Amino acid sequence: MQVLRSVNEMQANSIGLRTEGKLIGFVPTMGYLHAGHLSLVEVAKAKSDITVVSIFVNPTQFSVGEDLERYPRDLERDLKLCEDCSVDIVFVPSTEEMYPAGHSTQVEETAVASDLCGVSRPTHFRGVTTICAKLFNLCRPDFVVFGQKDAQQAVVIRRMAEDLNFPIDIVVAPTVRDEDGLAMSTRNTCLDSRQREDALLLSRSLFAGKSLVDDKGIRNVDRIKSEVTGILTAGRCVRLNYVEVVNRENMETEAEIEPGRSMIVVAAWIDEVRLIDNVML
Ligand code: AMP
Repeated sequence: MQVLRSVNEMQANSIGLRTEGKLIGFVPTMGYLHAGHLSLVEVAKAKSDITVVSIFVNPTQFSVGEDLERYPRDLERDLKLCEDCSVDIVFVPSTEEMYPAGHSTQVEETAVASDLCGVSRPTHFRGVTTICAKLFNLCRPDFVVFGQKDAQQAVVIRRMAEDLNFPIDIVVAPTVRDEDGLAMSTRNTCLDSRQREDALLLSRSLFAGKSLVDDKGIRNVDRIKSEVTGILTAGRCVRLNYVEVVNRENMETEAEIEPGRSMIVVAAWIDEVRLIDNVML
């Protein structure tokens, strides 16, 4: 496994690999890898000749007052996990390498990114699209694998790739959950046992909403939102951000539920830790 740290090395490598006709699959991450990340690596490996994983805690997707400094990091452990998964290249740039002095260009998607998580984190997706555009130019992937857990992010990136004509397939892989239903997330490591119990209400409320649709045939959006909200806000540490029923293709709110197209999305703070989750209907 190659560990590359400079943008020049990364780009030269991927251009060389493409010249040899290799198919490159890419998984961008912020590290502190868990089974959710590794499931994306498996999807990439199954479709590619060369699998590239990036590990970079991207400062531009955190706002002032968010958890950039507290974000968990353990590069040694991450590299071991990548090696165990037979990743070919891990790209681990420094902040200075990605954002050298004078860096003044941003990439911004302006429709999908402005709602849902974009309301409470107004600069977040601009940071995500900027870093992804840069990483796509450095890693030159044929396809990139994102997780369904960050559903809005995947739709924003797909929009960006289409709008900016990146010749890249965006693949979205299913959410990996702990046995009790909690969607795996690096931020779960910031929860104590009491907070973790309340965090479980995200998936529990989503699955209760899904059951009303799938098992009881309910199609009324307000009925589903009120079921999910009721269960979620019963938690003592929970501060609800949003519950919405959206079209999974474009994240626009649904007037009526359409199975196969609609999705329930939630975001909530468990004390200081902001978590998101979603379920397909
Ligand atoms: P992050 O390191 O949190 O930026 O996530 C990197 C990638 O892993 C993103 O595409 C996420 O959507 C994906 N991811 C994070 N958690 C999960 C999960 N529980 N299941 C599947 N993919 C995930």
